[in-house]
Amino acid sequence: MSEQGQQNISSRNLADFVSVNPCQIRKDFSYFGGFGTRGVGYKIEELIRQIKKILKLDVAHKAALIGVGNLGSAILAHPGFRAYGFDIAAAFDSDPKKIGRRVKDIMVEDVSNLGALKRRKIDLAIIAVPRDAAQQTADALVRANVKGILNFSPCYVTVPKKVKVISLDIAMDLARLPYYMPTS
Ligand code: NAD
Repeated sequence: MSEQGQQNISSRNLADFVSVNPCQIRKDFSYFGGFGTRGVGYKIEELIRQIKKILKLDVAHKAALIGVGNLGSAILAHPGFRAYGFDIAAAFDSDPKKIGRRVKDIMVEDVSNLGALKRRKIDLAIIAVPRDAAQQTADALVRANVKGILNFSPCYVTVPKKVKVISLDIAMDLARLPYYMPTS
């Protein structure tokens, strides 16, 4: 709506977007100080700014990708990370044939150099290596002071409490669908 030039939005409009009650919208925002005006609603730019702040997306982050294979290359080509303030600033692989190559303007580096992430202020990482290399990759990322890991490898990785891991599995998400599909 902001891109369409609209300046204000009501809690009813917002509620319609996400299929909840407008009271719920107002109540939720009130936990964070309530930034609407009665009869006017919310100033969209201000609302976006506040929500980014609540979600800690008001600070730009640099991320590293580990594993520049099929999935990793697709991730590097994806332009959508910038919308959330993320910059994929480095990519690493263990394959000598890939190291030194450029993929979408990013030079693939030797994974043995992960230690340099701290100096480069890269605090997020995406793991896209084969399953058997996932834990050692996570361990190296923890040593490099990375604070958040998005794990695509099909296994759990264990990390100290100070690090947050989110694992994504498209197959598992697909497997949730039949349960919710109407039976004919
Ligand atoms: P791929 O074989 O094309 O790529 C893997 C890359 O990792 C290769 O470039 C390889 O050289 C590199 N690599 C291997 N060991 C490494 C190490 N120790 N350090 C750094 N790089 C290393 O595989 P892919 O199809 O891109 O899949 C990558 C991973 O993502 C796999 O674990 C796969 O199962 C998983 N995957 C997950 C989803 C999902 O929904 N979560 C979807 C597709 C693939």
